[in-house]
Amino acid sequence: MLSPAEADLLIGQNLQCLPIESLPLAQCAGTVLRENIYAERDQPPFDRVAMDGVAIASQAGGSRKFRIQATQAAGDAPLTLAGPQQCIEIMTGAVLPLGSDCVVPVEEYSVADGSVTLAPTARVEAGRNIHRRGSDTRQGTLLVAAGVKLHAPEVAIAASAGMARIRVSSQPMLAVISTGNELVEPGEPVLAHQIRRSNVYAIVSALREHGFQRVADDHLRDEPQEMRERLHFHLETHDVLVLSGGVSAGRFDLVPQVLQELGVRAVFHGVSQRPGKPMWFGVAPSGAAVFGLPGNPVSALVCHTRYVLPALLGSLGHNAPPIERIALSAPVTITPALTHFLPVKLMQDDWGRTWAQPAPTNGSGDFTGLAGTDGFVELPPGPHTYPKGHVTRFFRWS
Ligand code: AMP
Ligand code: MG
Repeated sequence: MLSPAEADLLIGQNLQCLPIESLPLAQCAGTVLRENIYAERDQPPFDRVAMDGVAIASQAGGSRKFRIQATQAAGDAPLTLAGPQQCIEIMTGAVLPLGSDCVVPVEEYSVADGSVTLAPTARVEAGRNIHRRGSDTRQGTLLVAAGVKLHAPEVAIAASAGMARIRVSSQPMLAVISTGNELVEPGEPVLAHQIRRSNVYAIVSALREHGFQRVADDHLRDEPQEMRERLHFHLETHDVLVLSGGVSAGRFDLVPQVLQELGVRAVFHGVSQRPGKPMWFGVAPSGAAVFGLPGNPVSALVCHTRYVLPALLGSLGHNAPPIERIALSAPVTITPALTHFLPVKLMQDDWGRTWAQPAPTNGSGDFTGLAGTDGFVELPPGPHTYPKGHVTRFFRWS
């Protein structure tokens, strides 16, 4: 059976890269950049005044008193200083007036009769409170490379580069589909022998938290004809299907068989892991990726976080995020020869170090035990006892 790393590799090899769309700047937060952003001009684009005050010439021969020649606001074209005994009242963000090379801030002088008298402590030095043209970046510099997620700083940079629209990955069309005759929708009456349909809500929540907006959901009974018709429709209309349930060895676990009948090629069935061993993955003739997650709620959410989310980010053209690792706060013993995904809570010690506190659930059906956990750690196959302080990979729920 495949290891999780082998499953990652196979998923990566079978993913399509999503198309690019051009979005207005204001709609780009959280999207993945698919073009490079270059500096439109030097930054700052001119010698920029960095304080409200007066602009003077530092070679003023030790003068401490200057006649106010004019006032220049941010956005005004630059004035020219008339002489060494003059000053120009100036605002933050204005262009440095020609002939001046020092800005004395407003806190360091007094004004009377149209003249400024510097306080004894005021320093007159060339370059003071001036943010020189091009001192941050030069025109044409690569500011942000394709492949990053756009957050507030990158959006500001694109705006500064004059871009009204940005080329980003288009949102995939996702379908999250539960299977099982026993499942009952929240809000509907539930009988003693039935189960609440919760996996879809967990998976849709995780997708939304990661910025995926085009998410449909559906429910299929364990009935081959119904499954065939509905899955055929979903395969035609979506980029990625995330199914839960119906991939194990039971008589009513019909998902792999029905998908195969619809021409979906099985890439793998089964990963050497707990929870989530029966996980299935395949690719439809249309190129749509199909994840068949096991139905047990802990398995479904772990597999979604471990495989589906990273795969979706990959298909958006997102640079692989750095692998997160964390130390166990207590020893953990693993008996089966399977990779173990162990739910954990993060906690900080008195020195500010973060540890993973094991929070094992009562089996893969016990999702109530996940409340308050932050994610899970990945522990290589046992039998083995991992000591306190053992550092291993960490996956966050969100
Ligand atoms: P299955 O993988 O279909 O054999 O399901 C395994 C277990 O997970 C069964 O106890 C199902 O009732 C439960 N299960 C399957 N799908 C869901 C779901 N969407 N929400 C909650 N429990 C589920
Ligand atoms: Mg089932």
